[in-house]
Amino acid sequence: MIRQLQQEFHSIIKSLEVLYVIENAKPCARILVFEDELNKTANFLDKNKINSAVSDFKVLKQVSQSEFYSDKSVKIPKNDARKGYFFVYLSKSMETAKKAKLAEENNNHLELGMLLGYPKCCCEFFEKNFGANKTDLTLAALGNSDGFEFSFYTDIAARHFDVSLLSHFPHSFECGPSINIAKNNFEIIKKHSEDTAAMFSGILQSAVIYTMQEGVFLLRKYEKIGGKIIYGDVMTTSKSKLYYLLSSNKELNVIDKKSFIVNDTKIEGDGYGVMVFGLNKL
Ligand SMILES: [Zn+2]
Repeated sequence: MIRQLQQEFHSIIKSLEVLYVIENAKPCARILVFEDELNKTANFLDKNKINSAVSDFKVLKQVSQSEFYSDKSVKIPKNDARKGYFFVYLSKSMETAKKAKLAEENNNHLELGMLLGYPKCCCEFFEKNFGANKTDLTLAALGNSDGFEFSFYTDIAARHFDVSLLSHFPHSFECGPSINIAKNNFEIIKKHSEDTAAMFSGILQSAVIYTMQEGVFLLRKYEKIGGKIIYGDVMTTSKSKLYYLLSSNKELNVIDKKSFIVNDTKIEGDGYGVMVFGLNKL
């Protein structure tokens, strides 16, 4: 099923959104569909008895730091000559799909989030923090979190590499309702594909250096000894200077969730985040 969905929807995250609706894990999902593929998607959804509503506008995806995932997009009219993406709201209930479409049109983030089945605490967090110039709330979630070590279930940094168990920004990386959603989603993935589940848990268990300007880095196969993190390969969204510093050293020292030292260079500031996602704190 996951493979079939991937042929249809390309990205794994997008495919899983559809799977969660099929499996009744999500009351409604919202995915971006390229305008030339709308008919194909509608046929697929029909065949799988999923109702859908399509946005009355389309969006141009912004160039972002990730190939797979963009938090940022620009709305344009649906008859604009430029090719764009439509939001498709899918649900087993036609009414819910239509309500989600309407909530988005009205810019009602809180209602849209609730319709998509996100925890209330996270919907409120989103509404409070989201803005035209602040579309990535990862560091805001880190600001709300205690320390820098979290369970891999809430690793949303890996979404830049098309891997995530959550489709919303958790209000904190310790958000209980978000962890429960992620656990449930993980079970669904496991049921359909042990291989995909194993790949997910491998990538989600990473140390992460998250920056607003210099890329997002997953430090793979890490070992944490006190504040020291020794790691293997580095997955990156950007071949920046920081990437070369991180990948040529293979170890760093964490000072706190906003600062670390690599090769005697201290890196810190509001645009930086350090997170370690593992099996702990379950
Ligand atoms: Zn929350």
